[in-house]
Amino acid sequence: MSHTLDQADVLAKKDDLIATAKRSFEVGIQTNAGGNLSVRLASRDAIVIKPSGVGFNECTRENLQVVMLDGTVLASEIELKPSKDLGFHLEIYRRREDINAIVHCHSPWATGYASAGLEVPCLTVQTVEKIGRMPLVPLTENLGPQTPEMIGPVFDDPKIRAAVLANHGTIGTGKSLMAAQYLAEIIEETAHIAFVRDTMVKTLGLKTPPSPDYGTAKDEKAALSGG
Ligand SMILES: [Zn+2]
Repeated sequence: MSHTLDQADVLAKKDDLIATAKRSFEVGIQTNAGGNLSVRLASRDAIVIKPSGVGFNECTRENLQVVMLDGTVLASEIELKPSKDLGFHLEIYRRREDINAIVHCHSPWATGYASAGLEVPCLTVQTVEKIGRMPLVPLTENLGPQTPEMIGPVFDDPKIRAAVLANHGTIGTGKSLMAAQYLAEIIEETAHIAFVRDTMVKTLGLKTPPSPDYGTAKDEKAALSGG
């Protein structure tokens, strides 16, 4: 199968991805192993994605892969194994025309929260405005990793921009890599803040104070209750 790619767009998206991966590594939301990120090409029918075995701090124009939305991996200078996360990235792009980039990190605070079976609460004014809700996706019934068939439907709700996979990691999405990166950072920061709040509330025997309730979160609640 041959595809005509806009090479200038491919190179621009690769450079964007390399810069975003470096940033994730530098701000500490992803170590050099694990996690993944991808960006949709202007042609809309393909993405650039980090393959398996390449660290966030090691992405180059040569080792990134171009994959069609139907799952066809295009030939590249260096042949590498596609990412284990490729399936859920494709699933999200196929379901959501408005999503052009995904940053998936194994960041510890948010992943720890989800692994305790808790949805990371949107308790800061920033998360209320920018995210609204970040659903928790549990492991499979057999305690295996979340499948694309489990993750995809979470994003069928057009308001959902982020999710957290128990025992695995976070998903931030956006119109651009920078937007998705910001969400990945905010998710982690919020889980850290939530941990401090919840630990203090518990230690001091306090009642959990209410979180901000306006903007996206309020709309979300109204939609869920049919009001
Ligand atoms: Zn992962």
